[in-house]
Amino acid sequence: MRLVSESDELEVWRQRARESILDLNDGIVTAAGIAEGFASAGATTSTLLVAGVATVIAGGFTAASARYTEITTEWEMNRALIEEERASIQTNPEEEFEELVGIYQGKGLGAELARQVASALTEHDPLAAHADAEYGLDELGPTSGAAPAAAVAGLCYGVGAGLPLIAIRWLPHDQRIILTFVVVLLALALTGWFASWLTRLPALKMVRRNLILGAATMAASLLIGLVIHV
Ligand SMILES: [Zn+2]
Repeated sequence: MRLVSESDELEVWRQRARESILDLNDGIVTAAGIAEGFASAGATTSTLLVAGVATVIAGGFTAASARYTEITTEWEMNRALIEEERASIQTNPEEEFEELVGIYQGKGLGAELARQVASALTEHDPLAAHADAEYGLDELGPTSGAAPAAAVAGLCYGVGAGLPLIAIRWLPHDQRIILTFVVVLLALALTGWFASWLTRLPALKMVRRNLILGAATMAASLLIGLVIHV
């Protein structure tokens, strides 16, 4: 579970960018598989376009709904935890104070110091002290911020899914299958490289994984398209 912890702005930005890259990747790979499958099955250009546009729209909405549900669920769960804590602090302040002392002792503070820390934090803001010590939670914002994040997810997926669609529609007809294959792999190499920059993981590994998964998806769809050729 991704908690709302006090990470710096840059980390939050990186996290968002990582999610966006994943949505972009999902869009590229799904649409590439569908485009290659339809093309190898001998679909007409207009059928291909309908399938491609449907992928952009349905996939974009699915990605947006998934992100919206993920964020609101997490926010609601965290809010429920904080409300539970607030009630508990009101009904059992002593017990809750001892709990806080116990947590700081568990982290290695001596009994005396743990008591001092707990009482200073409790005096300042008991709820914030408990939310942080017990769940690593910061104060929750008034809203979960799910709507803009969902819009970005849908948009990234849609942009990703649009790429194979454009490639298969406008590349030379007799070579569109192989050329789309190449264009998609180039795009996936780029997103893999960008993801490695964001995650500080080895670029070669991320690019290779992207290429293998993308190529496997397209190859599987291609084969199935050939088998059910119309
Ligand atoms: Zn507590």
